[in-house]
Amino acid sequence: MLIDGMTYMHEHTTLDLSEVKNTEDCQLDVFSETVEEYKKLYKKGVKNIIDVTNFGMGRNIPFVEKVTKASGMNIIYATGFYQEDFYPIQVFRETREQLAERMIKDITEGIKGTHITADIIGEIGTSFNKWTETEKKVFEAVVIAHKETNKPITTHTSIGTLGQEQVDFFKGKQVALDRVIIGHVDLTGDADYILKMLRDGVYVAFDTVGKESYMPDRTRAEILKKIQDAGYIERVFLSMDITRKSHLEYKGGIGYSFLLDSFVPLMQSYGITDESIEKMLVKNPIEFMNR
Ligand SMILES: [Zn+2]
Repeated sequence: MLIDGMTYMHEHTTLDLSEVKNTEDCQLDVFSETVEEYKKLYKKGVKNIIDVTNFGMGRNIPFVEKVTKASGMNIIYATGFYQEDFYPIQVFRETREQLAERMIKDITEGIKGTHITADIIGEIGTSFNKWTETEKKVFEAVVIAHKETNKPITTHTSIGTLGQEQVDFFKGKQVALDRVIIGHVDLTGDADYILKMLRDGVYVAFDTVGKESYMPDRTRAEILKKIQDAGYIERVFLSMDITRKSHLEYKGGIGYSFLLDSFVPLMQSYGITDESIEKMLVKNPIEFMNR
């Protein structure tokens, strides 16, 4: 069994997008501050973090292992290639079969020469309203790796765009849609759009909770209520996608506990039941990850 207890389904214990994003804030590599927050989160019942950091994102296995040891948090590792702006050069040079081989190696042998293996493929992404040729190649490579290893897939959509196209792609490749999470769907702000994907059979992640500058949390809660009413809450995950130093408490950010301390009460005030909240945070992740 990979996980038990509450799970945040889309996080990055450490990552480095600072060079492309041209800000040092995007170099999230603060060990003791992260450990402190994970410890606090663990005490509140979050026992698992699905860490979707992969090739080209500053993946640092020894760092994450040390965080696990110091905090007690069960961290699940990922493999894959993020999104064109952040691809390492081999993604452009290699064939989809070669890229699949890299992911399969992470899953079956270990990541970057360690014995730590990946249990999920992602986050793999499309650009803003655009799915580049190389991103298509990555998705095709992911299908090969998924079919070979049966590991689940988790995606990135840029500000929520092209989620439906991703669903259609996986459907066309005969990937079982209940093995796929479409990420960042909360950023669409569009309940009908999300419900259409849910009816098609995928899981979706409301994984940017607290990022008010992109989408107000009230909108997230309103949409979740509609999803609950439509009977699809068992296909939804929650997370915060913390990626910057300034998101952490020591820098005055909202920190990892915000979801439990602030967003859960907000959801309750919108009529989302404790049973639904338990599903999104505990039962759905267990069912999805432990298969
Ligand atoms: Zn993302």
